[in-house]
Amino acid sequence: MGRFLKSLLLIEIVKGMWMTFKYMFVRPRVTINYPYEKGPISPRFRGEHALRRYPNGEERCIACKLCEAICPALAITIEADEREDGSRRTTRYDIDMTKCIYCGLCQEACPVDAIVEGPNFEFSTETREELFYNKEKLLDNGDRWEAQLASNIAADAPYR
Ligand code: SF4
Ligand code: SF4
Repeated sequence: MGRFLKSLLLIEIVKGMWMTFKYMFVRPRVTINYPYEKGPISPRFRGEHALRRYPNGEERCIACKLCEAICPALAITIEADEREDGSRRTTRYDIDMTKCIYCGLCQEACPVDAIVEGPNFEFSTETREELFYNKEKLLDNGDRWEAQLASNIAADAPYR
């Protein structure tokens, strides 16, 4: 009889609707409206790579190739030459983002904080070719994200 009454009065549906109503109007929201809203990310987040410059515009990278040597995925390819002023700089700096496993070792190895993994995680592409990053693209990323990169590095510095 109890089950019959429950079915007749649609008790289970009413319970379900009450639960829905609670989550719609009473309980705090647990979801965000991505991509218009974004969740917080750690300063240590390892996202898209960037090559940084000094404030005077000079590239930080000194072409020591430590990042290339340490990369376990063999994703980095560097060629270097000497400039007229005697400084050593890369003539080619490629990262094959289809190979990269985002381990962060390139960033750890770099003695001048040139190659970094930034906070950007929205860099999906339609073709594989777009994921073959060259030096120009990496420097562009550095210019675009420098403010946040610098503040993330400063926030992490006490723990390194
Ligand atoms: S994050 Fe790791 S796999 Fe990716 S380029 Fe750097 S060292 Fe290589
Ligand atoms: S990015 Fe850093 S580790 Fe890699 S070659 Fe340049 S200076 Fe060396």
